[in-house]
Amino acid sequence: MTGGAGFLGANLCRKLLKEQPETEVVCVDNFYTGRRRNVEELLSHPRFRLVEHDIVEPLEMEEQVDEIYNLACPASPPHYQKDPVYTTRINVIGILNVLELARKHDAKILQASTSEVYGEPQVHPQVEGYRGNVSCTGIRSCYDEGKRCAESLVFDYHRMYGIRVKVVRIFNTYGPYMDPKDGRVVSNFIVQALQGKDLTVYGDGSQTRSLCYVDDLLEGFVRMMASEDSVVGPVNLGNPEEYTVKEIAGLVRELVGTNVRISYAPLPQDDPTQRRPDICLAQKMLGWTPKVPARAGLERTIEYFREEL
Ligand code: NAD
Ligand code: UDP
Repeated sequence: MTGGAGFLGANLCRKLLKEQPETEVVCVDNFYTGRRRNVEELLSHPRFRLVEHDIVEPLEMEEQVDEIYNLACPASPPHYQKDPVYTTRINVIGILNVLELARKHDAKILQASTSEVYGEPQVHPQVEGYRGNVSCTGIRSCYDEGKRCAESLVFDYHRMYGIRVKVVRIFNTYGPYMDPKDGRVVSNFIVQALQGKDLTVYGDGSQTRSLCYVDDLLEGFVRMMASEDSVVGPVNLGNPEEYTVKEIAGLVRELVGTNVRISYAPLPQDDPTQRRPDICLAQKMLGWTPKVPARAGLERTIEYFREEL
């Protein structure tokens, strides 16, 4: 797995070690946005190995590799916008290196793509067949276009070299092991609420996101990886429960049990107005449906941050 020390990766390493007694997990990460402490306790696990490596450089593995989850890429807007050229390099050169590894080992690869490939969507909810409305010049382009190019390379490797591929398009996911400084909406609001600070809503807060709890998402990952070779995707994975950002702020405030205020800051450029997955395909192909409602997922996440802070 690449990006195994990040938010999704830390959860996925644990899930695989727990639920798949035959699986050995190699976590490849350069700690660009991930944290060593997310995987520290796994270092003594007999079926876990950590490799510190930047996927922009070619990747070699001493063991036979059967399955690759490619998660390495900063996911939070402030992080991927910090060095946008590097973000594109990770998405384009990084995936090429990972695909070469898959080719050498005849491994299956699952690519963590994103709802961002739909850009500012004009089809709602977003179906996989929708080709999106993405800016190639804005501040989100490094990520959006990078991920689009990565999908394109994954499918070209599949057609040219017969590599077994799986593409999942992830919609806003949250949960334990997020970095308190990550910068995404759920972690920001929870950390602010716990610290008694104003919740920073960007714009007027009428833009929407659909929130998926991490355990639900990762069940979708594992089912996708185990699916027949003919199931290549792209498949949307997310929870169709859609909220305005202002509603998310209200919910977090209520669940933390605080009356901190909401303060408004300018909406970042190209911030999508709405986002909600159509998950019919995942339901049909993978028998997958998210089960954790936002309230329950947020409560578990608040618990995690309480301890973390
Ligand atoms: P994250 O930033 O917490 O984790 C990313 C991990 O990748 C970190 O551990 C980081 O150090 C590592 N990494 C980054 N660049 C690397 C490089 N060049 N070489 C090796 N490791 C590198 O983000 P996350 O939320 O866990 O996201 C994981 C993947 O899922 C990303 O590819 C992201 O684009 C995708 N995704 C996530 C969401 C979400 O809501 N969490 C939504 C859509 C897509
Ligand atoms: N957002 C916000 N306050 C914050 C962080 C984010 O209002 O402190 C908004 C952001 O402008 C966006 C939504 O919340 O409209 C989701 O942002 P996030 O960075 O979590 O993910 P993405 O925009 O990539 O979906």
